[in-house]
Amino acid sequence: MLENIQALLAQATEEIKHASDLNQLNTYRVHYLGKKSPVTELAKEISRVPVEDRPRVGQSLNEFKRAIQSLLTARLDLLQSLDIEKTLAKDRIDVTLPGRGHAQGHLHPIAITRQRIESFFKGLGFAVVEGPEIEDDYHNFSALNIPENHPARAMQDTFYVDDHLLLRTHMSPVQIRTMKNNPPPLRIIAPGRVYRRDFDVTHTPMFHQVEGLYVDHDVSFAHLKYVMQSFLNAFFERDIPVRFRSSYFPFTEPSAELDVQCTSCYGKGCRICSHTGWLEVVGCGMVHPNVLKEVGIDTEVYQGFAFGFGYDRLTMLYYGVNDLRAFFENDMRFLQQF
Ligand SMILES: [Zn+2]
Repeated sequence: MLENIQALLAQATEEIKHASDLNQLNTYRVHYLGKKSPVTELAKEISRVPVEDRPRVGQSLNEFKRAIQSLLTARLDLLQSLDIEKTLAKDRIDVTLPGRGHAQGHLHPIAITRQRIESFFKGLGFAVVEGPEIEDDYHNFSALNIPENHPARAMQDTFYVDDHLLLRTHMSPVQIRTMKNNPPPLRIIAPGRVYRRDFDVTHTPMFHQVEGLYVDHDVSFAHLKYVMQSFLNAFFERDIPVRFRSSYFPFTEPSAELDVQCTSCYGKGCRICSHTGWLEVVGCGMVHPNVLKEVGIDTEVYQGFAFGFGYDRLTMLYYGVNDLRAFFENDMRFLQQF
């Protein structure tokens, strides 16, 4: 019996010493100290031991239990401290490593262009004004000398919200709102998003436009020409040749299209300018008397000029980008170049 206990202790010592994790250790605890352990089995047989040997056998069984208990505790301490060391090693932070840093952001090229335009016109004393992107029919068309059934309404593919509301097709409604709320003299530009149903290499359903308005005494086409030439020189950072071509808009009279010399071939003729040497960039003219009357400005006292251009197109020309859609696809590889 005593020999059996000794053999069992030797086996248990060996197993517990090599327990590789807490789970396995717990299995041994149940095995050696639980209700169905070999010790319990041995204790049941104590009645077969001669009476005089019983105290020694009983003592031996108790010593066995204590020994197993202390073996388990020692192994448990060791495994737990190994665990902690493992965690510490895994979570170790090398404070001497350089930081990862943040990627530096920058303005979108269209935003850069808008800031350059605003900065130029503020220098000439123009104020920057804004207005709603959802407009009513009156401010977008009727007030601009474009009555219902006027063919000019068909010229612009409009997104309608309902019978009377629409996404503004140009920045002109902001001019109407400004003239209605402020007496002349007026010098404003209105930059913002406009919407038309169009999508190809040079058109997107949403694009950006700036419109400008100058209303005062004795305003002439010469003032318009000076302001446009000065702006385009400043924008393209050189003396850029321009030409005015007679045109038609319902809200200006006379009206003109303004061309700049092709920024790609310098007037020699290339694919970008369809071999004309010129690029159409601005629509402009003297504000139509009907528009001034509509907003309550006395046309005997005041005149005005107005102009409008898409500044996405100016951005394309300035940076030499040939697909307008690239500006709106949010491809970081493209945008990071600016
Ligand atoms: Zn060209």
